[in-house]
Amino acid sequence: ICWSVRGGWHRPRVSPYGPISLDPAAAVLHYGQEIFEGIKAYRHADGSVHTFRPDQNGRRLQRSARRLALPELPVPYFLQSLKELIAVDGAWVPSGEDQSLYLRPFMFAKEAFLGVRPAHKVAYYLIASPAGAYFKGGVKPVSIWLSEDYSRAGKGGTGAAKTGGNYAASLLPQSEAYENECDQVVFLDQDRNVEELGGMNVVFVYKDGTIVTPQSDSILEGITRDSLLQLARDRGHHVVGRNVSLDEWRQGVASGDIVEVFACGTAAVVTPIGVLKGRDFIDEQPTGTLALELREELTNIQYGRAEDKHGWLYRLDA
Ligand code: PMP
Repeated sequence: ICWSVRGGWHRPRVSPYGPISLDPAAAVLHYGQEIFEGIKAYRHADGSVHTFRPDQNGRRLQRSARRLALPELPVPYFLQSLKELIAVDGAWVPSGEDQSLYLRPFMFAKEAFLGVRPAHKVAYYLIASPAGAYFKGGVKPVSIWLSEDYSRAGKGGTGAAKTGGNYAASLLPQSEAYENECDQVVFLDQDRNVEELGGMNVVFVYKDGTIVTPQSDSILEGITRDSLLQLARDRGHHVVGRNVSLDEWRQGVASGDIVEVFACGTAAVVTPIGVLKGRDFIDEQPTGTLALELREELTNIQYGRAEDKHGWLYRLDA
């Protein structure tokens, strides 16, 4: 599905999946003027197809567009694109435990020129791919490598936007994580406060039930995190967004003040953090039950097995 802009968005066109033709001077190839989203479609037991808080993805795409000097796609067009794709390809939405159709909306600068300025010709596409369970054989705690040499985003940079460059910056540290036998990498800011993982937000649970999550202008505001924190508030937890330094994390775990640490995002939903590993330390992380309980609660809503109290579901096939 593609919209092109020359002073306005045009009617969407659905076409068979295939290569995109681009001028070698297309701005996206040289200056990385590109943004995207990640969202899932779920099949409920009655066969209907739903997605989760897509207005939030649409608004985040607009915020990313502003930061990358791209035109904002109106949210109704964004929602229409999801529905149009499901209208032709709805049969690809799998049914079953933890199965979904992953939807990848993206927008990029198509205009051909060599010079650093915002492009005037832009395309919006939506592609999709069936996604199986993130964890085969049940949720397992992940091990996290602390990136000391690299940052993902800086103050005033593009960290809060979902743009390819942020992910490009995380590839080398992610390889370092694998070399150190870790699953994921965690980034710090310039003041050694915890930011996020390569593709997930981080949440800390304290002994008194308080839940703390990093708040910063340079991390991606996760929709999964926002939803889990709302469910936690519904259960009476006090939720705080503030800086969490690496020292607070390590000391909190050592003293028993922090009783659970987990990561969250659309792909994995929730994953407990089992180990934090740095160049000269390995900290085992405490395990609790809250992360898995919230995961269950959220997926029950997404798959239509529990009441959608907050009105988060959006039907795509009607
Ligand atoms: N941070 C980053 C860097 C991400 O790529 C993602 C995945 N979109 C998240 C956090 C979690 O966001 P969401 O819950 O909206 O998937």
